[in-house]
Amino acid sequence: MALILSLGSSEESIWSNMSESPGKRIQLAQDKGAKGIIYFDSENFPRFKSRFDYMKNNSSGRMNLKDLEDESFSSIFIDQTLAKAIMPNIETNNSPGEIDTKVTLAFESSNEEVDSENVVAFIQGTDKPNEYIIISSHLDHIGISSEGEINNGADDDGSGTVALLEIAEAFEKAKEDGNGPRRSVVFLHVTGEEKGLLGSQYYTDVEPIFPLDQTVANLNIDMVGRIDPKRDGDRNYIYLIGSDKLSSELHELSEEINSKYTQLELDYTYNDENDPNRFYYRSDHYNFAKNNIPIIFYFNGTHDDYHRPSDTPDKINYDLLENRTRLIFYTAWELANRANPVIVDKAAD
Ligand SMILES: [Zn+2]
Repeated sequence: MALILSLGSSEESIWSNMSESPGKRIQLAQDKGAKGIIYFDSENFPRFKSRFDYMKNNSSGRMNLKDLEDESFSSIFIDQTLAKAIMPNIETNNSPGEIDTKVTLAFESSNEEVDSENVVAFIQGTDKPNEYIIISSHLDHIGISSEGEINNGADDDGSGTVALLEIAEAFEKAKEDGNGPRRSVVFLHVTGEEKGLLGSQYYTDVEPIFPLDQTVANLNIDMVGRIDPKRDGDRNYIYLIGSDKLSSELHELSEEINSKYTQLELDYTYNDENDPNRFYYRSDHYNFAKNNIPIIFYFNGTHDDYHRPSDTPDKINYDLLENRTRLIFYTAWELANRANPVIVDKAAD
């Protein structure tokens, strides 16, 4: 363990974001063949430590997919005393290098296996059955709070759940009436979203039930029943994220469908790459986008009840939930029935 990645610059970069940078550094070192990581960050160590202490004390540890876990690799976050014992000038030396120090570590970690399931339903396409449209939402939420209160998750993601069910019912009815979709439609109700998009990652990285290279698009529904209190303007809106990232055609189609059938205000505030919330990376569609599958993420924004017991069904705006669900249905219908699948014409980042 002698690879040192150092911080040589104070410029804003992909390495500057506190919540993503350690993961990216660790991944890079792992890709370059590191056997493990000893990580020192004097500024953020107290934050890492309090997070680990919290996880240790209420047995709500980190979750990973067992199938993708590399058990031979450890990342160890160390404090200043230990860092200086290993490399006395660590805080002033910014150049990469090797240090010839032998470190012996004794540490414990405990793991528990937890089972969970995605729920998948499928309507086979009539004349293009091997092309797939995936409509997704997540069935999990964050559970019971440390004070014993139930986090209801009516908006996150009860709203997406009922939208998914209504859309599935509409497609099924069309099929029964002899008007089934030309392409196959997959209703993917994923688990473990709140633990790091695990259900969708399992689907894309471990066991895609339907081939990813024949998957035309993913429409992901996560929080569509509320109004963002920070937003001005028409209440009949929805934030769209990602529609133009991989396919201009998908974006145009989505706009056209909305002006034709639903006339919602499509708000692209959070579609901005520079938006600090980075919602594009934070729900299940991202696992499809990283596989070059065009996606649209439908989202109402956060609110005071986000991830709290007070996210209850009485606060859902049912008229808006209905309008937004109709928009997603019409978009899915167009994707499933148009002559050609939407084309990927933009590079993934
Ligand atoms: Zn959610």
